[in-house]
Amino acid sequence: MKVGIVGGGQLARMLVLAGYPLGLEFRVLDPAADACAGQVARLIQSHYDDEVHLAELAAWADVVTFDFENVPAAAARILAQQSVVYPPEEALAIAQDRLLEKTLFWELGIPAPTFSTVDSLEELHDAALRVGLPAVLKTRRLGYDGKGQQVLHNAAELESAWEALGAVPLILEEFVPFEREVSVLAVRGRGGETAFYPLVDNQHRDGMLRLSQAPLTAPALEQEGFDYARRLLERLNYVGLLAIEFFVKDGHLVVNEMAPRVHNSGHWTLEGAETSQFENHLRAILGLPLGSTAAVGYSAMLNGIGDLPERAAVLATPGAHYHAYGKALRPGRKVGHVTLWATDPGSLPAGLERLQALTTG
Ligand code: AMP
Repeated sequence: MKVGIVGGGQLARMLVLAGYPLGLEFRVLDPAADACAGQVARLIQSHYDDEVHLAELAAWADVVTFDFENVPAAAARILAQQSVVYPPEEALAIAQDRLLEKTLFWELGIPAPTFSTVDSLEELHDAALRVGLPAVLKTRRLGYDGKGQQVLHNAAELESAWEALGAVPLILEEFVPFEREVSVLAVRGRGGETAFYPLVDNQHRDGMLRLSQAPLTAPALEQEGFDYARRLLERLNYVGLLAIEFFVKDGHLVVNEMAPRVHNSGHWTLEGAETSQFENHLRAILGLPLGSTAAVGYSAMLNGIGDLPERAAVLATPGAHYHAYGKALRPGRKVGHVTLWATDPGSLPAGLERLQALTTG
């Protein structure tokens, strides 16, 4: 079975590595000659709007999938003309635009922050009155890892924020004073069967994920999260892995955003779940039976941002697993991760402290 992947970053790379034992073949399409998935699969070096190369990938593949959600709509359409494409185009289109995304959350009864669209400085002033301050100003499209967003604390900051971000459509959303952040990783197969990984606790700094820990034992929250995930999967007629990020406020979930792909907060599943998110995404899009999403032991995943701790020092830590993505080191870039795994959760904090001391960034 042949899988084409649009986008050749670390998510594509880990999909490929998970797919080899299943006997799958891969090609990845990415504009960068040094796309890191190109080290493990044949790379079609191409822009995402190059119809010839997209058609070549689609003609070769049994199924085409993505390692990022900002695939141009036209590219998804070209692929769909010649191949089976999952997740569905609509899920990509919605996840690309915070307005469409938030509108869908409200429609499905999934609590989301109050928001207002902003297309001018006057609208920003109106929105600040309606939403209240503090609030977060975000670009509607192409934001990730906290890029394209700014927290506004008082009216004096509105003009400079508008100048920094206002060249493109924006939304202003309520600042959520959250107790913690969690994510749900859900998967739906071609036949409509679903499975959910245990709830993940996530810690961000400067808008970027730093640490994920799973499973988070919080049964009521988990049920809320699974219920919301199920609504999204059904409404989108989704196939593949869907990640949904939430804030926890007053003991309940408030949704932040969704990603129609495998997700950084699911990297722990490589060691910490019976079937990894990467393998289950592949199983889902190929119409194969889904694997168990049950956690095996306890996991903590630390991102390597800009740099990776020294390999030998990580490997000297009992239970630590090292994942380098084969990417050039650059400040602010995700270049690898380390997962600490244990059968006894009580042993994680000491190992984590040691790893955190080794991890810069
Ligand atoms: P995003 O790119 O929207 O996922 O935002 C990245 C991170 O910024 C989130 O994981 C939060 O830590 C923080 N953040 C985003 N939106 C809000 C909000 N409305 N209220 C509080 N924190 C937020």
